[in-house]
Amino acid sequence: MMSDDVQRWKSKYLESLEEQEKLEQRWETRLDLLRRGLVRSSLAAEGSDKAVDQCMQELRDMLRRDDIDAGLSALIPRLEKAVLDSEKRRQERADMNVAGVTNLTSQLLALEPPREVRKALKQFAKRIEQRASQPRELPALLSELSSLQQQALAALDPESNPVRPGLLQRLFGNKEAAETSGLPEPAEEDAQSGAALAAVDVVVAEPPIAADALPTHAAPDALAVSVLAAPSAPSSPVDRAAPVNGDPAYALPEAPEPGYSTAAPHIGESLLRLLDELELPARHQPQAEALRSRVLEGLNWYELVAVLDDLAVLILAVTDSGQREFASYLKQLNERLESFLGSISEAQEGYSESVESARSFNQELREQVSGLQASVQDAVDLHSLKQSLEARLDGLLNTVSAHQKQRDGREAEVAQRLQSLTQKVAEMEQEAQGFRDHLEEQRQKALIDPLTGLANRAGWSERLELEMARWKRYGGELALAVLDIDHFKRINDGYGHLAGDKVLKIIAGELAKRLRKTDFIARFGGEEFVLLIPSTPLNGAQQLLQTLLDGVEQCPFHFRGERVTITLSAGLTAFANAESSEQVFERADQALYRAKSGGRNRVELG
Ligand code: GH3
Ligand code: MG
Ligand code: MG
Repeated sequence: MMSDDVQRWKSKYLESLEEQEKLEQRWETRLDLLRRGLVRSSLAAEGSDKAVDQCMQELRDMLRRDDIDAGLSALIPRLEKAVLDSEKRRQERADMNVAGVTNLTSQLLALEPPREVRKALKQFAKRIEQRASQPRELPALLSELSSLQQQALAALDPESNPVRPGLLQRLFGNKEAAETSGLPEPAEEDAQSGAALAAVDVVVAEPPIAADALPTHAAPDALAVSVLAAPSAPSSPVDRAAPVNGDPAYALPEAPEPGYSTAAPHIGESLLRLLDELELPARHQPQAEALRSRVLEGLNWYELVAVLDDLAVLILAVTDSGQREFASYLKQLNERLESFLGSISEAQEGYSESVESARSFNQELREQVSGLQASVQDAVDLHSLKQSLEARLDGLLNTVSAHQKQRDGREAEVAQRLQSLTQKVAEMEQEAQGFRDHLEEQRQKALIDPLTGLANRAGWSERLELEMARWKRYGGELALAVLDIDHFKRINDGYGHLAGDKVLKIIAGELAKRLRKTDFIARFGGEEFVLLIPSTPLNGAQQLLQTLLDGVEQCPFHFRGERVTITLSAGLTAFANAESSEQVFERADQALYRAKSGGRNRVELG
């Protein structure tokens, strides 16, 4: 009975085990099929959307591994979203296709083609929506539209031109109009094009000094010549009453103007000078050489920009490496200081050692002497006394001479250490001085305007601050003036930039030579100068400015044998209490403005 039951349960258990195995196998097979199916369909789905593709790739990776449960439940929501987004985008694209094709069709209809074409177009229009939303249909749709377009256009232009203008052209304008609309020809890639550009510039610029007041223009540009080289009639500011055969120092150079080609050598020269002045570490030399040879080959308008870019990069690199140099100098200095400290503590050790050995010498001497005393007391006869005395004295002498030797050695050592210390200190001082000099030199260079040799704006700011501080502390008088060359633009326009530059240089010299040591002048920008006059009452400063203006006016500038008079206007003001330098400057500038509007070549007080 019992065994029957057992038998029955056993067979039931075995049965269900078998059943279970079968089931598992079936699942396994199904899972395998599912996996393969998924891999295949993921491959098939690929290529329509980036986000979907990404999910598909991950899906395939996951299917190759065993832990698909966790992975799938994270991936599926993302996949769903990607698919929905992709579908939305597809829909938007389809809508755009429909709109585009519809638009083209109605534009063709607006051309009012003959009846049969119109009918075909209308029929086509009706089915656009349904067809254009199917990407597959699009090629056929477009080719149909293209053929309709051809029919519509052929009907409009019966003398079917062999070269048919495009649809856009027909819709938006004709060919001749496009040609005469004034678009410039592509510029030639050489210096000539710079000249052409500049010539246009001249035409556009206001021609205030009746172009005719200027001497013949040497520029090769037809445009510039036609505008500027009209027959002459005298007019200000260039006073040409009496032809002069003047001082070559004041002769204004002739320069074909305007045009980049004219300025090019000048620019090239400045760039070369800049390259020379750059203190480049060895590793930047090849770059600089390459730039130099590019400049030497002659720059045109377009290369200039590239060269300037490269130069900027180089300068930045150098500035950076300057800082690195400084940092490495500091590091070196630090190392030296460390070894310096080391030497000092060694010397100290040496000293305490010698103190120690002096003590032990003392000790030894005492011992020897007390031994001596003992021997004297213990001596029984003269002979033994003599013997022990001699032995003791020998010992004493030995001690003394050993100590002497030791001390001499140590002294020599210490002296040498001291010597090397002194030398190190001197070296460090020299190096630091060299570095300071170099920095100062760089700083000075940065404060000077290279054209005129006067201080530049940075130099001005530095000095202004200094003079302000002095004035606040000690009181007294401080005047500030702004000077501006009159009608300088006309000098440039009439004689060229080279002449303009020469005028700037000479005027800077004329101004500077009439100042006292304590006065300060700077080129503030373009053709503007600023002046600080300390410890001088306002009327004295005014007199000084008048002298400056007269001096410049009397400069015998000349061009092609004709006298050219150049004048300045100035605004002058004095510092008053509790003012910022900006306020003072502003007042002087206002006064300058009044000097200009009041007729120029004068000083106004502010
Ligand atoms: P105003 O009497 O009103 O001062 O007239 P202006 O023509 O002197 O004044 P404006 O400020 O209009 O023109 C100044 C000109 O100076 C414009 C610029 O081309 C020229 N300029 C500025 N810097 C330099 C330079 O370094 N060299 C040369 N040659 N010309 C320069
Ligand atoms: Mg100006
Ligand atoms: Mg001016």
